[in-house]
Amino acid sequence: MDRVYNFSAGPAAIPLPVLERAREEMTSWGGSGMSVMELSHRGKEFMSIAERAEADLRRLLDIPAGYRVLFLQGGASAQFGAVPFNLAGPADKADYVVTGSWSKKALAEGRRFLAANVAADSADNKHTEIPDPAGWNLSQDAAYLHYTPNETIGGVEFHFIPETPAPLVADMSSTLLSRPLDVSRFGLIYAGAQKNIGPAGLAIIIVREDLVGRAREGTPVMMDYHQQAEAGSMLNTPPTWGWYIAGLVFQWLLEQGGLAAMEERNRRKAETLYAAIDGSDFYANPVAKHCRSWMNVPFTLADPALDARFLEQAKAAGLMTLKGHRSVGGMRASIYNAMPQEGVDALVAFMQEFERSCG
Ligand SMILES: *Cc1c(COP(=O)(O)O)cnc(C)c1O
Repeated sequence: MDRVYNFSAGPAAIPLPVLERAREEMTSWGGSGMSVMELSHRGKEFMSIAERAEADLRRLLDIPAGYRVLFLQGGASAQFGAVPFNLAGPADKADYVVTGSWSKKALAEGRRFLAANVAADSADNKHTEIPDPAGWNLSQDAAYLHYTPNETIGGVEFHFIPETPAPLVADMSSTLLSRPLDVSRFGLIYAGAQKNIGPAGLAIIIVREDLVGRAREGTPVMMDYHQQAEAGSMLNTPPTWGWYIAGLVFQWLLEQGGLAAMEERNRRKAETLYAAIDGSDFYANPVAKHCRSWMNVPFTLADPALDARFLEQAKAAGLMTLKGHRSVGGMRASIYNAMPQEGVDALVAFMQEFERSCG
């Protein structure tokens, strides 16, 4: 079967050259006679895969020397709890900015482990606009400020990095690697892999050195950044396959010209799709223009009764997984790094044809 254009929010499309390379290496990696899945995580073969992946990620993001990079299990959600355990005590305060479903989940988990203050919440505009930082209610002595630079479900994105006295903690699950990033502005960045990086289950953590080694009493060792950093993310058997595929994705990104090249492509894809939505009365996107996500584009049809037909015909045209999140309805096109401009062009052509056929 031919490949389709997969607009899933996650697990999401992976670049075809990466899948083909993995297929070539599936039964014998690097002449070892073994699959990566069968290699000892402590053997020299897997160690070379792991080290190359980290080095390539550091190159892509230009990660400063004073940061540790961890490859951990539990996806992004495990970090909702790991962050308060590592960065604060039970009586400490932390600020949370709520801009949609994922930041709400991070807040709910944070609340269980410390005094979480809601610094801002865009509920009053139904999470269609980022609250102006000038109005944020910051705590004097927050251990950190947590926010979600790109809300995968609502499709609202920060196109700036907030300035805060407390270390900035960012859940970048659906935006990391979509463009260059000034890592030095952050205390901690984490991302589940299955959006823009690789297979589900893996999470990447980029944490400033001074925030490592402060885990509170009672932190489970698997969640302790210091313990994991000292063990090279191998306190136990790490997610070797996910780590390997992520490494292939990093190599692919470098071959594409790195994150500056991805930024150009991603900007153009987003502009193409939003222009098509805005240029029609048949489609709509509710997000304020200056906060629109480059990665996740939700849109509705003027008549929701046509949703099922839209999805069915899109599928027949090889445009898959466009159904919106159950909490939002309508459609959502996720256009991560692995989605080529041709996929977005095909979607736009389909949308225009569908509108004509209904008109
Ligand atoms: C998908 C997603 C998560 C959850 O990721 P898991 O790996 O399933 O835990 C968290 N935050 C954001 C922004 C996401 O897009």
